[in-house]
Amino acid sequence: MDGNENASCRICHESNSTTDLVSPCFCRGTMSIVHLSCLEKWLMSSLKNSCEVCGYEYDVVRKTKPFTEFLKNPGTKKAKENFFADIFCLLGLVTFTAATFILSFEKPNFMVPGLIFVTFFISITYAIAIEAFNYHYFVWESWKRKNQTVKIINVT
Ligand SMILES: [Zn+2]
Ligand SMILES: [Zn+2]
Repeated sequence: MDGNENASCRICHESNSTTDLVSPCFCRGTMSIVHLSCLEKWLMSSLKNSCEVCGYEYDVVRKTKPFTEFLKNPGTKKAKENFFADIFCLLGLVTFTAATFILSFEKPNFMVPGLIFVTFFISITYAIAIEAFNYHYFVWESWKRKNQTVKIINVT
């Protein structure tokens, strides 16, 4: 045990738990020692696959949780509400657009004056919908970052 007394993890700086302490890269000395679990967490949040000091490439297996998990819990309660509210709006928007086109074919004379306004209205709404899509895509990307498992294999 003498050799491990000064050995502490370079990420959490704890030396209590020495069970999964490894030196997985080319780094030597105190900077080389790390908990496997701490390193996996760090790789998860940094999105890196290599040691930032020596550049050693870890053998990393990344798995993202399925999209259905995201639908169940996209992070905050607010994100979930926004997501379903926007899907609801999108469905309404598509229905409204389709109805407008069908009506304009069936009753051309009646619809023409309104059609200009409706086209204008729809353009604006779709622009907002694209913004909303970008927002949700961003939420999805950051969710993926937090909801993946990182496993380092072949640690020597
Ligand atoms: Zn640690
Ligand atoms: Zn290193």
